[in-house]
Amino acid sequence: MLDFQGNLERTHHCGELRATNAGQQVVLMGWVNRRRDHGNLIFLDLRDRTGIAQIVLDKELIPDGHAKGEQVRPEYVVAAVGKVRLRSADAINPKMPTGEIEIEATELRVLNDSRLAPFSPSEEAIQNEEVRLKYRYVDLRRPEMQRNFRLRHDITLAIRDNLSQQGFLEIETPILTKSTPEGARDFLVPSRVHPGEFFALPQSPQIFKQILMISGFDKYFQIARCFRDEDLRADRQLEFTQVDLEMSFPKQETVFAVVEQFLAAGFAAAGVTLPTPFPRVSYDESMRQYGSDKPDLRLPGITDVRPAFTDAALSTLQIDSALPVVAFRIPSVGELSRKEREDNHPLFDLSKGAKFIDDFKRLAKGFPEAAVKVRELAGAAEADFVIIVAGDPAHHIKASDTKFAGRLSEREINVYSAAGNFRTELAKKYADKHGAFAVTEKVVLDANAQSAGAAVDGAAAFHPIWITDFPMFEYDLATAKWMPAHHPFTAPHEADMKNLVTDPASVRANCYDLAMNGLELGSGSIRIHRKDVQQQIFQSLGISDEEARARFGFFLDALEYGTPPHGGIALGLDRIVMLLAGAPSLREVIAFPKTAKAVDLMVDAPTAATEQQLKELHIRVALKS
Ligand code: ASP
Repeated sequence: MLDFQGNLERTHHCGELRATNAGQQVVLMGWVNRRRDHGNLIFLDLRDRTGIAQIVLDKELIPDGHAKGEQVRPEYVVAAVGKVRLRSADAINPKMPTGEIEIEATELRVLNDSRLAPFSPSEEAIQNEEVRLKYRYVDLRRPEMQRNFRLRHDITLAIRDNLSQQGFLEIETPILTKSTPEGARDFLVPSRVHPGEFFALPQSPQIFKQILMISGFDKYFQIARCFRDEDLRADRQLEFTQVDLEMSFPKQETVFAVVEQFLAAGFAAAGVTLPTPFPRVSYDESMRQYGSDKPDLRLPGITDVRPAFTDAALSTLQIDSALPVVAFRIPSVGELSRKEREDNHPLFDLSKGAKFIDDFKRLAKGFPEAAVKVRELAGAAEADFVIIVAGDPAHHIKASDTKFAGRLSEREINVYSAAGNFRTELAKKYADKHGAFAVTEKVVLDANAQSAGAAVDGAAAFHPIWITDFPMFEYDLATAKWMPAHHPFTAPHEADMKNLVTDPASVRANCYDLAMNGLELGSGSIRIHRKDVQQQIFQSLGISDEEARARFGFFLDALEYGTPPHGGIALGLDRIVMLLAGAPSLREVIAFPKTAKAVDLMVDAPTAATEQQLKELHIRVALKS
């Protein structure tokens, strides 16, 4: 019973017809969203990526089309030929953009049938995400997903355009390459031609973009795919897309201005005005104020409440008096029962050697003044839930105790980040009560609903912030080695260079992150452009000269041929789109994502290679039985 498309040519998209089209002859093609059979009249809601139009099949007018209409089912692909007519007043559907009209069909062609899909694109997303991902082609037909990818396209295009206007050239860099250290595992690709040798997929275009600066391109960008073999979470994928850029002779401020411009352009494409310039905070201050290097500014920060306690009180409460004592509040949570509070306990990260107090009634019994003072210092209103976090002398974790000229020590950072993590977890849990996140959702909804050209004010909903002056190194307890906090090509502050070997923890890096609403959107740095400094950094990271030569010899060589000072940044495009789509996970804005178990359920990858393939690649698989 299937028809051919034949000479039919589509004249319009389903979602674009309005009352002004009444009287026009049209040819529409799309999927049957729904079918309603009223006997002599059959109504088909025809869907394409622009929306839905109602097709009327009148048995008297087109008996043949009506008969076909009886057969079609959801997701059949049909072509409808007919005339646009105004609906009668009582049939107008104000919820549909095309709700004032319908198409009186004179011909219906069934171009393809469809098996009954496990879920209908005309309905909300089903809970079972695995089924959605397996039948991704059906899932992507949902208007919400269509909207996400249109948004992604618009944002990407605006960013590209803006960077091009700012003088950046888009240049592609290799996918089959050598390891690029970004702190994750590499994906390796065996070489058939060179037995036992492997390419690595780039964790980022880092080294190439630096070489492009050595090559004189001055300003480079790329919407670049990056590959990192790491454990997946809602905001991570094995392969993801960065807006990657690099420029010659910049100051940190130059990079910030470039990013603020292109990000504002990207947000504008999604209908949101993003105020610039973005605020800035140093890493140490960010830890002190938010317990995080990707602070969510939609909620109150954390406060030093050490002055509320006497030394005696701290010792009775078994609080480490040498470490920070901080408090934070989650607004409007109201009084919680003991059971409700206990349910929060698993959200506290015990691995940081910190503890918390969330029972103010109890605290007030022993230390009434402290209890009052803490709430006062934290600026807490009656209904705010206040939590104190402090160092736990009983659970000292191994960490470097050293504190450097005004910088935070690792132990201090641990207490702050225990508080910061708890703050974020509780903020998520009590989102309904404090309502701070709902502001963002509302702006996203408004931006979606706005008419073309109008923009909604994103100031209350999106909170970008630059984090600067990160430590250059982090001490890794497991390997007992200093690791680069960013990547090993980041330049140290010139003033701290003298401490590189003697006092690595005190060295500040010339690097910066951009955070927004608790997400890290990107990071970058001013780079090392001198070979002697690069070698020194490799040395302080415990990378021997031989190893440095083997891994980065080509780059060390390149540094010797007139390398300009340069710097750059990369922003996660998927994350930007996720924020602007108001989506709960990256998988909503990546067409064919991997699951949390690192598989592609639609294509069924990864899979075993054939014997023949393995042989050609000179690989033998040693499977544990
Ligand atoms: N390559 C870095 C990253 O992927 C970004 C940069 O430093 O430009 O995080």
